[in-house]
Amino acid sequence: MTKQKKFLLQENEIPTQWYNIQADMVNKPMPPLNPATHEPLVAEDLAHIFNMECSKQELDQTHAWIDIPEEVLDKYKFYRSTPLVRAYELEKALDTPAHIYFKNESTNPLGSHKINSALPQCYYCKKEGVTNVTTETGAGQWGAALSYAAKIFGLEAAVYQVKISLQQKPYRSFIMRTFGATVEGSPSMSTRAGKDIITKDPTHPGSLGTAISEAIELATTTPNCKYTLGSVLNHVGLHQTVIGLEAEKQMAMAGEYPDTVIACFGGGSNFGGIAFPFMRHTLNEGKHTEFIAAEPNSCPKLTRGKFEYDFGDEAGYTPLLPMYTLGHDFKPANIHAGGLRYHGAGMIISQLIKDGYMHGVDIPQLETFKAGMLFAQTEGIIPAPESSHAIAATIREALKCKLTGEKKVILFNLSGHGLLDMVAYDSYINGDLTNYNVTDEEIAHYLEDVPKV
Ligand SMILES: *Cc1c(COP(=O)(O)O)cnc(C)c1O
Repeated sequence: MTKQKKFLLQENEIPTQWYNIQADMVNKPMPPLNPATHEPLVAEDLAHIFNMECSKQELDQTHAWIDIPEEVLDKYKFYRSTPLVRAYELEKALDTPAHIYFKNESTNPLGSHKINSALPQCYYCKKEGVTNVTTETGAGQWGAALSYAAKIFGLEAAVYQVKISLQQKPYRSFIMRTFGATVEGSPSMSTRAGKDIITKDPTHPGSLGTAISEAIELATTTPNCKYTLGSVLNHVGLHQTVIGLEAEKQMAMAGEYPDTVIACFGGGSNFGGIAFPFMRHTLNEGKHTEFIAAEPNSCPKLTRGKFEYDFGDEAGYTPLLPMYTLGHDFKPANIHAGGLRYHGAGMIISQLIKDGYMHGVDIPQLETFKAGMLFAQTEGIIPAPESSHAIAATIREALKCKLTGEKKVILFNLSGHGLLDMVAYDSYINGDLTNYNVTDEEIAHYLEDVPKV
């Protein structure tokens, strides 16, 4: 019998509800705070920036299951289910007894998991009568997904892309503009926040923090315009649970249950998306599964950051969020995994890490490219540099199994493909990439600017 490599669901097996882990958490995430008064926020406060439905989802700690609107489900069916794949060739190359599976979120036309949340965010905006949306993007995956989702739901999109990413990798800005969005490098001179940042530091390369400030400012000063965020927030992680809910059914088709679940970590949406549905069996039935979030060692908020209330953006426009943070004005090194260059971690995951349910590992850039190369040369898929962090963490675990002989079942999320990151691969092959280390002094310095609550 040939070994089954790929597991797919029928259209009628695609999940019709998202899983809201907040309902099952023992210690609920602490509330976001108004930065001026330090009062806990209610949904109406968030709706100043976001659409009302997402504002409610953000703070919902009671409903474990939330219906996916039919209009969103119809669009999910354009590209879902995504394949669950057994990485036989990678297992063979590593000579490991571990069984390695990956959920392939790179197969949709936008190339990453981000479309799973872009669709519902734009749908809710449209339904509530919003006409324009703004957002930030790093390497451009979120911006591309949002630009497409905005177009199909009839909204105008304005995207602030981290300036250094826009310069190094212009292709995704062309994709966004092909979908009809306007794109500007951040920091820009088009907002007060951008001008302030440029005045202080004329060569500021931009960060997700600066781009978020500019997008929020535009949203709050433009009529009928809402801001959308591609990661970090609870409602984004909620939408991404479609990944793990599908994977759970597909793992059952393979006759296995993961011992270890791994994903790369920027703000936590693809990690939460694959982890939360499995975590519910840990929370509700005491199942033992290890959850590993793989972050760059140059942006190590999970492994070396502090659990504090901090801003989600550089200028301090967002509510104060309880999270593992490196400080909201942390300037991450120019690693090629642009989607992981963010100073903070989502609130749910921060609480779960604090409570010991999951943990982070930090990985140097060169190790991630070595892992990405091996994955490409075995499984035939060129991974996004972000996703290569998950692959590197998976390889570490699989090699541990080789030493101990354990037949662990490892599941990781392939959050996106790297076909627009080939310059980075070329640099790696030429030996031009380096690792970046952050000193304790640097981290302590940026943490000084965290507001005192
Ligand atoms: C944005 C992005 C990430 C990081 O964001 P999370 O919210 O942590 O998932 C990881 N991989 C890819 C391909 C991305 O586009």
